[in-house]
Amino acid sequence: MKRLVLKFGGTSVGTLEKIKKVANIVKKRFSESNEIIVIVSAMSGETNKLNEQSKMVSKNFDNKELDTLLSAGEQISSSLLSGSLIEQGLKARSWLGWQIPIITNNNYTSSQIVKIKTEEILNFLSKRGVAVIAGFQGISLENRITTLGRGGSDLTAVAIAKFFKADVCEIYTDVEGVLTTDPTINDKAKIIKKISYEEMLEMSSLGAKVMQPNSVQAAMIDNIPIHVRSTFLEKSGTKIISQNEIDYKNVVTGVAYSKNDAKVSLVGVVDKPGVAADIFEPLGENNINVDMVIQNTSSDGKKTDVTFTLKREDLSKALSLIEKNIKKLNYNKIIHDDKVAKISIVGAGMIANPGVTHKMFRSLANKKINILAISTSEIKISVLVQEDFTQQAVKTLHKTFGLN
Ligand code: ASP
Ligand code: MG
Repeated sequence: MKRLVLKFGGTSVGTLEKIKKVANIVKKRFSESNEIIVIVSAMSGETNKLNEQSKMVSKNFDNKELDTLLSAGEQISSSLLSGSLIEQGLKARSWLGWQIPIITNNNYTSSQIVKIKTEEILNFLSKRGVAVIAGFQGISLENRITTLGRGGSDLTAVAIAKFFKADVCEIYTDVEGVLTTDPTINDKAKIIKKISYEEMLEMSSLGAKVMQPNSVQAAMIDNIPIHVRSTFLEKSGTKIISQNEIDYKNVVTGVAYSKNDAKVSLVGVVDKPGVAADIFEPLGENNINVDMVIQNTSSDGKKTDVTFTLKREDLSKALSLIEKNIKKLNYNKIIHDDKVAKISIVGAGMIANPGVTHKMFRSLANKKINILAISTSEIKISVLVQEDFTQQAVKTLHKTFGLN
């Protein structure tokens, strides 16, 4: 007998019809003699709606009240699904985060799970019950409802799989699985059958929206096998597993992009020790994350240019911090651009294959796409380009690396 965690996203439980369909899937899996714990998101649109309502009440809606409010969406979907399973003749019961309890820290609106109590649910499973758990929520040490950050039901699913020692955590969603790129900008996108946690983490941080990045990281730390699959089509989906279980034939697994970045250049900065620290220290102290950094070597040994990228939403704050610091930094001018996109190729196959970098650059050059900045890691190469070239860059790289 296998213990399965099945998580259904917001679109999978978006209507009553769909909830009945989900109940059929759960029933089928249960009849294959599995122990089943189901995690649900709120019906699609519900959390956004509640969030909007909070803003209409107050621009500074209290964080703890916000968590209580936002968690309501999952109370609705979990009870509707549980009721639907009972209607199908199964023994089912819903649990809210606080009832289990899923204990979190006091970091309201993006809490971390500390502990999950298992006895009651294990007992229920042993009596052939199907447990339905409201995703996204927990209870803090000071007895208030918390939420795990947007998209947090994925994290609930992974954490439940960990604490209940499930054999697998299946993420049911409205797409067939994880794709080699975004199908809305490239119709050649294909399903990735197996992907490592590390690659998936890169893909999801870079804009592939199938799973919340925190949940992928949690799965990686505890080696929880994930299976992403469609609620609506009988397809094999994508397995997210550890790198050493994958036999890499392709150098590149996927092409991702994001349009959330902006670029800043300080022109004519004095080239001496401590300058980079002076530029980036105030940003770090103000919680502004810097991503790519380029410093030219100064031809005369005196002045150089420093370029970096950061989240678009942090741009104006960063500019004012730098301008405040102009005396100390002593640059000639500052240039910024937020019409940029980051295009990345991701693949653990790169580790063993040299020559990927130049192949990527040549392929972009052939399309006359200029590279504004570059960053690399062991399994990823990212380039910054003008935003208008996003689609063309994704398409050409997808083809160049044999993913079409
Ligand atoms: N309902 C929450 C959200 O929309 C959590 C989730 O769907 O995973 O962010
Ligand atoms: Mg989601």
